[in-house]
Amino acid sequence: MTRSPQRSRELCPEWCNGYHELSDDLRLTHRSNPTAIPAIERRDSGEECRVTAVTVDLIVGLEQAQGEVWVWIGPEDDAARSLAISFESAGRLNRALSDALASGLAMP
Ligand SMILES: [Zn+2]
Repeated sequence: MTRSPQRSRELCPEWCNGYHELSDDLRLTHRSNPTAIPAIERRDSGEECRVTAVTVDLIVGLEQAQGEVWVWIGPEDDAARSLAISFESAGRLNRALSDALASGLAMP
């Protein structure tokens, strides 16, 4: 059986993709379509301080559950390593990343 998106103009935020899950207390969870970001991740093997670089697709999206908006970030193939942070926290992370990248550009 294939689910089809069902957006509700009254209930859904503008970014909702229409695919919903009901929680145990029958509340809707709204999700955006994920954005995939190709990235290179450093992984430490733990063996003799061996470090490897691997390609991953990071997934970023929005989720609204019980009135709160969350931003989730994580590798597409490993949900256990994903992170769900508040919308405000994501804004602070965005500013910190911008600052760090800007300072990195200033380095010789
Ligand atoms: Zn929705």
